[in-house]
Amino acid sequence: MNVQQHIQLQPYNSFRTKALAKLFAQPETVEELQEILTTYKSENKLIIGHGYNLFFTRDFDGLIIKPEIYGLQILEENDYWVEIEAGASEDWDAFVEFCVSRGYSGIENLSLIPGTVGAAPIQNIGAYGAEVKDVITLVKTVETGSGNVKNFTNAECDFTYRNSIFKQTRKYVITSVIFRLQKSFSYVEKYADLSRELKDNPHPLLREVREAVINVRNRKLPDPESLPNAGSFFKNPILTKEEKENLLALLPDAPVYNAGTDGFKTSAAYLIEKAGYKGKRKDNVGTYEHHALIVVNYGTENGKEISDFVQDIQHEVKSKFDIGLEPEVWMF
Ligand SMILES: Cc1cc2nc3c(=O)[nH]c(=O)nc-3n(C[C@H](O)[C@H](O)[C@H](O)COP(=O)(O)OP(=O)(O)OC[C@H]3O[C@@H](n4cnc5c(N)ncnc54)[C@H](O)[C@@H]3O)c2cc1C
Repeated sequence: MNVQQHIQLQPYNSFRTKALAKLFAQPETVEELQEILTTYKSENKLIIGHGYNLFFTRDFDGLIIKPEIYGLQILEENDYWVEIEAGASEDWDAFVEFCVSRGYSGIENLSLIPGTVGAAPIQNIGAYGAEVKDVITLVKTVETGSGNVKNFTNAECDFTYRNSIFKQTRKYVITSVIFRLQKSFSYVEKYADLSRELKDNPHPLLREVREAVINVRNRKLPDPESLPNAGSFFKNPILTKEEKENLLALLPDAPVYNAGTDGFKTSAAYLIEKAGYKGKRKDNVGTYEHHALIVVNYGTENGKEISDFVQDIQHEVKSKFDIGLEPEVWMF
């Protein structure tokens, strides 16, 4: 069991903010993880993957656990589907490529989402009309408090839009995920941007869909390696009927979609743009010029500068449209 002290967290978050972890561990097996959890029972703990959805505003007074648990294994298959178990620390997009190259469909629309397999169920990653919840059959975890193994069926994960039992409770370390993917593929139009990319190819192959998603993403999103960011900073707000009516009274062209029993969904990017924050920059932090929802770090190592800017956006949107924006990104 190797637990290090006073580790710089700058390389472990995609905003590249500086902070020290009091303790830092990289368990390579479930057993090693359990030993660390029981030995450091009283420490405040944070689990990280590739750090594409979190950043630090101050030193972390506790134990950061970055699992290094790998492996891809086919558990079961028939003529129609295949079940694959993937270790939590496998790179998400490498896993998508592994599946697409073998003709397994179901996650091609989630191509190029940065991060690990283990983080994918946390916020039920989604893009281009697909969500990872639709292909997960089991999530294997270790409970942080007891060190006990606990497995969750899909229904027990309580998946909703950018949410899950793991995000709500923050009590479990995901060690591996089992996916069921299909061996056949036919393209179903789900998202305008993607359909536009495929307009000359009405019956794309699985690989062509993956390539189209990668092309659209590369055009639209800033690369965190050259322009530090964490993707979409806020969730799209869910509105009650009254909030929807108030919004449409202020902004008649606001995009509003029926979100089933949840209410109505609107676009956080639209609200930020209407609040005058698209492409706006304050010192070292700003929103991306081509995408209002992406907060970009132009040069600070101080996470507090980023969280202050984010609060400015929330304040402005709340005071103009009376809608609260909830961050999708974790700030510690
Ligand atoms: C340019 C860019 C584009 C993005 N596009 C999308 C997108 O289209 N759709 C989308 O949904 N997201 C998107 N994201 C967000 C991000 O890619 C996902 O949230 C991804 O799942 C993060 O993976 P990670 O390994 O970096 O997780 P981290 O950032 O390290 O962690 C994220 C959260 O998961 C927890 N966590 C991580 N690993 C584990 C584990 N093994 N067990 C328990 N908890 C764990 C952490 O505590 C934290 O709360 C984007 C981010 C960037 C930078």
